[in-house]
Amino acid sequence: MERSTIVRVHDGLHARPATRFVKLAKSFESDIELIKADKSVSAKSSVKLMLLGVKENEEITVRATGADAIEAIEALIGYLENPRSGTEEEGASSVETKSAEPTSKPQTALYSNETKAAGNMRGVAASEGVAIGPAFGFFPAEIKHENRLLGAGEISSEIARLKQAFAMVQQRMDKSLATNNLAESDRGIIAALKDIACDDELTGSARELVHGGIDAVSAVIGATSRIAADFASMDDPYLVARADDVNAVGRQICLALLGQDDANLDAVPAGAILIAEDIGAWDLARAPLRRIAGVICGHGGATSHVAIIARAHGIPAVLGLGRSVHALQNIKTVALDGNNGDVFADPDQATADRFHEQIGKAKTEKQALRAYKDIIPKRADGTIIEIAANLGSLEEIEAAQEAGAMGVGLFRTELLFMRHIHLPSEDLQAETYATLAKAFAPYPVIVRTLDIGGDKPISGIDFPDEENPFLGWRGIRMCLDRPDVFKPQLRALLRAAVHGNIKVMLPMVSGLDEVRATRALIEECAKELEAENKAYATFDLGVMVETPAAVMIAPMLAKEVAFFSIGTNDLTQYIMAADRLNPTVAKLNDVTHPAVMAAIELTAKAGVEAGIMVGMCGEAAGRPDLIPAFVGMGLTELSMSPSSIQRAKKCVLALGQVGDQEGK
Ligand code: PEP
Ligand code: MG
Repeated sequence: MERSTIVRVHDGLHARPATRFVKLAKSFESDIELIKADKSVSAKSSVKLMLLGVKENEEITVRATGADAIEAIEALIGYLENPRSGTEEEGASSVETKSAEPTSKPQTALYSNETKAAGNMRGVAASEGVAIGPAFGFFPAEIKHENRLLGAGEISSEIARLKQAFAMVQQRMDKSLATNNLAESDRGIIAALKDIACDDELTGSARELVHGGIDAVSAVIGATSRIAADFASMDDPYLVARADDVNAVGRQICLALLGQDDANLDAVPAGAILIAEDIGAWDLARAPLRRIAGVICGHGGATSHVAIIARAHGIPAVLGLGRSVHALQNIKTVALDGNNGDVFADPDQATADRFHEQIGKAKTEKQALRAYKDIIPKRADGTIIEIAANLGSLEEIEAAQEAGAMGVGLFRTELLFMRHIHLPSEDLQAETYATLAKAFAPYPVIVRTLDIGGDKPISGIDFPDEENPFLGWRGIRMCLDRPDVFKPQLRALLRAAVHGNIKVMLPMVSGLDEVRATRALIEECAKELEAENKAYATFDLGVMVETPAAVMIAPMLAKEVAFFSIGTNDLTQYIMAADRLNPTVAKLNDVTHPAVMAAIELTAKAGVEAGIMVGMCGEAAGRPDLIPAFVGMGLTELSMSPSSIQRAKKCVLALGQVGDQEGK
């Protein structure tokens, strides 16, 4: 069914009113279209709606098909006929947000690493192991204006060139969308990019610029920058983030015009060493990791998320090389030592032989460790020491199971939020957490609530510009300010708890009030689910101990939560006041520093005295040199990259404790 009306919304469906309209449309199940003149777009797509450009006093038709079509049309028409729609403030957040950057800012890294000798550099040892192989540079080219002024006779051929480039990019996107093996999240991203690549607004303005005598590359840069700037200036973070999409499409069209291919991780040959100045955690996570033998990067530190992904997949990595990484751009072979941070460009025969020998030894050692896969290590008093896995996505379940993980000690939910262009729905989250719980039952799966901040923003959350995001609005602080983001996650966790042994932990806790406020929200969510007749189960609530404040109040916290999990990555950076991503202060980021070890011991003591479980999920949990100390302090759970699990089990056994084989 459909109904037409004259739009009375003041200034039309620009920015905020458009966002609110889309939010309202999304609250209905029906398929809803908005029709203006002869153009119709989905009312649930902000991009399309924005580009439809609905103005005040224009005639618009709303068409809906589905079970709640009548209600949808009534609500949406009512919205369009109200001049004040979208201008009223909705539950203003307690946090002032400045205009969001459309793109995540490159980190201004300070690098102290110097080239030691020709072809020999040292960076931060970020993921253990050694590797040698063909160098694969990932250095996306910068696209520059051609700045050519066209003569009258050149214009029609330039228009044809432009048309061809647009068609090529659109076809490429269609081809990607037609493949069956595309993850739903990637499909959504590509579909959104294709919408932009086909949009008249973009094609039309680029064409217009060429008609005005500007070369096609400069015209595309001009058109995309203007549209991207329009999106970037909007006050809705979702729409602001679309500026990135417009720029990405513009880049693809320019490359097609220049006959160049973009840097693409799909082409990584087997056994290659990936070399980049910077690589996003999300780019790396979806790269063909099985083919990557090593990672070398200008940015990043030992506990950056790129390092964590590399470790999760057992890929040696050296990060934080700074600008000197560019010297590796044109080399053929590279060797890296993820244990000490050494990198050898085009190594001589003796060095190459040494690396091959070490790789052989590591393989043998790995094979020997397989004997520990099914061991269940116990303390002399019979208490099981759980050796669990840190995971960031469902794709990692298999590797964790193969390693012999006794559950999951940390499921980082950030990737789930980063890989979608919208915030993931409650249903999608419930399904994800339930899959995890089922995969590891009866072992526990500890899901960490969203731990995200301004250093890695996501679509759907408008982060303020912060001088120091690591000390800013992140983790539990952000979640409690944004119940619209937090509650769907808590509801999803309550629903998933029906399917296995789900436990939930809060990141970046620094006060009891944060735990209490979360508990109140959980109770509210449970009541809602009850009223909606949806199945749910309660779960144990714990906290990560990763701020000095949490350590200092650990005895009080221990009375209010079911468990502690010590996050040594952040705890080290906050105790030592040393940015975990800054290679210049990498030396200070040392978990073995007496100050950090004392903080761990204080936490363990408080937890043990209160009779709650104390675990650890920071990277230190997998270190064989530290495991004896942690077990001695009373930790009964150690969660780590799957590649470290078997060695950790061996290490606990070597403490002279007893160990059972799984199933005995
Ligand atoms: C930690 O801080 O130790 C931790 C496990 O969390 P993340 O590395 O994700 O900050
Ligand atoms: Mg942390």
